[in-house]
Amino acid sequence: MRGKTLLLLYILVLIPIISYSKGSDGKKKILFICSYSTDNEYSRTNISSFINTFSELQGDYQYATEALNCTSLDDRYRWVDYTRAVMEKHKDASMVVLIGTEALVSYFSQVDPEIRKIPVFATMGQKYCASMEGNEIPILYDKNVEFGLIDILGTAKQFNLQLFYYYDYEVKKDIELIKQFFPKTENIAILSDNSLNGLSHMRQIKSEVKKNFKNLKLKYIDGRKLNTDQAAERFKNLPENTSVMLCCWKYDKNNIVYMDNSKYTFIKANPNMPVFSLTGTGIGYWAIGGYIPQYRPLGMELAKKAYDYLETEDWNGPFISGYSDILKLDMHELKRLDLMDANIPSDVIYVNPDFDWGDYVRLYKWYFILGSGIFILISIGFIYSSLSNIHIRRLKHNLEKKDEQLEQEKNELLKYQKELIVAKDKADELSRLQSAFISNMSHEIRTPLNAIVGFSEVLISTIDPTEEQDEYIGIIQHNSDLLLKLINDILDLSRIEAKKKKLFFEKADIVPHLESVVLSMRPNAKENVNILFTHKEPSITVVTDLVRLQQVVINLIGNAIKFTDNGSITLDVENRPDEEMMLLSVTDTGCGIPADMQDKVFERFNKVNEFAQGTGLGLAICEATVKQFGGKIWIDKSYTSGTRFIFTIPTNHNESSNEE
Ligand code: ATP
Ligand code: MG
Repeated sequence: MRGKTLLLLYILVLIPIISYSKGSDGKKKILFICSYSTDNEYSRTNISSFINTFSELQGDYQYATEALNCTSLDDRYRWVDYTRAVMEKHKDASMVVLIGTEALVSYFSQVDPEIRKIPVFATMGQKYCASMEGNEIPILYDKNVEFGLIDILGTAKQFNLQLFYYYDYEVKKDIELIKQFFPKTENIAILSDNSLNGLSHMRQIKSEVKKNFKNLKLKYIDGRKLNTDQAAERFKNLPENTSVMLCCWKYDKNNIVYMDNSKYTFIKANPNMPVFSLTGTGIGYWAIGGYIPQYRPLGMELAKKAYDYLETEDWNGPFISGYSDILKLDMHELKRLDLMDANIPSDVIYVNPDFDWGDYVRLYKWYFILGSGIFILISIGFIYSSLSNIHIRRLKHNLEKKDEQLEQEKNELLKYQKELIVAKDKADELSRLQSAFISNMSHEIRTPLNAIVGFSEVLISTIDPTEEQDEYIGIIQHNSDLLLKLINDILDLSRIEAKKKKLFFEKADIVPHLESVVLSMRPNAKENVNILFTHKEPSITVVTDLVRLQQVVINLIGNAIKFTDNGSITLDVENRPDEEMMLLSVTDTGCGIPADMQDKVFERFNKVNEFAQGTGLGLAICEATVKQFGGKIWIDKSYTSGTRFIFTIPTNHNESSNEE
């Protein structure tokens, strides 16, 4: 009876004070129902960003906000009725946005079918919530629920639920984290307060330990039964190998509200107690850390979804999902409790980061090694490219130098070339002058000599000489013959070299001509020497200069006669029309020419034996003549029984090629 009177009082007195709607001017309405006062930071920022975004989207709605002002569990008797009164007031709401676990629980406890039809967005509440003994929260109450936990989502499905973003605490991961840091842990102490959230957390942990960590013992520091001092006393006396799981500590059994001040009481009571946080409470102050939901501002996202739902056809909901969880650890606490070496997962987010280089190296050693590797590689690359650059520059410099040197050498060579051309011109001029001089001189000598020889012969023919005179005449004739031959030879050679002596081509059979040469020379040969003439073909008709050809043959046979005392001298001729030439040779069985002299005998005045008769011009004339024909003359080195001269005379001339 007393309870009902109190309830009526709440409805009649409190609702008008705590609620404010934006009036009812016939516009459609979105109703926000929050667990706590609208001054609560989360509620306020989310609602205002919802309204801003929704208005920007041109959503033309009224907004009404109702705060249930839920506090400790002692207060729970009024939550459902209070919510019913709120809904009575806002019957016309087009959508309800629930913020906080108590708002969710109270709303989903409503039985009115009209309420259950209204579209609902439920946020910032737990998925699993503690159910109560008694009938204070009738819909949620279910005695058979394991460990006194109820799945809100299951109940909410009886409503027009279009969106549910819930906290699904990762208790299992938290306990595994405790065991990783403190493998000796035997007890888990649950520190939870006298609030629906606190109780729900406590039951969730209890359920998890009973299911999956049966060897762990549970200790309770239960805010429903203890005031803060009693709780601190229990916290202080927790046995060894205990880790604390902090749910929250806001209301104690006396319903005294503690903000952050409770933490100092607990820290002071047992500073070295490892504390892990389920919700994020205490991390950065006295909890080591824990897996916690990734809280994020929702207003904007909810507004867009609400707009889609209410104002467009474009609705893909309902959207039902839990917040993803993150691992948050307090670096100070880890260092203080010497836990930095534990195998900390890499996706951790640190609060109170206070690194020294050692921490960096330990925590990020792989990144460090990788980074160092990359740095070293880049450095090596840089050094290599710098060295290459220097090397290339040096090469370029050397090349430029070499270029300069080459240019200099080229200039010098050009200079020498010019000098050489000048020298050659001079030499040519000298040679020409020399030839002219010799030719003139010889001419000048030959004319008087001819006169001397001629007139001597005339004189001799007119006298009858004595024996002694005859001898002198013989000497005179012999020497004047020699002198005349010398002069003729010099003249011949110089005329050939000065290209004044021309070839005269005529078609003839050379065989009889050469035969007569041999015949005429035979008497000059020594007694035991036979002069032979061999030719495969009976006649060899070619176009050639017969006189000059015979001159070469006479010279060669003359030499052979001079240097052959026994044996034979053979003239051979062979026509080779395919090669357009004749091959002639004069072979003797004489003294031969030493190998080192064989090339030199063609030079002027060069003789093997200085005392032998002759001036040493015969072979020079032969070579010059053969060359004029366009042929070649040489000594056959393979022949060693005397000397063999071989020469070629081209036969590709015709009579019309006679020079003028
Ligand atoms: P020239 O022919 O002017 O009267 P020469 O016979 O001495 O004088 P070349 O005909 O040019 O001059 O010969 C040069 C030298 O080559 C000769 O002095 C001789 O020593 C050597 N010679 C030439 N023909 C023969 C040969 N058939 N056997 C040995 N020696 C030779
Ligand atoms: Mg000779």
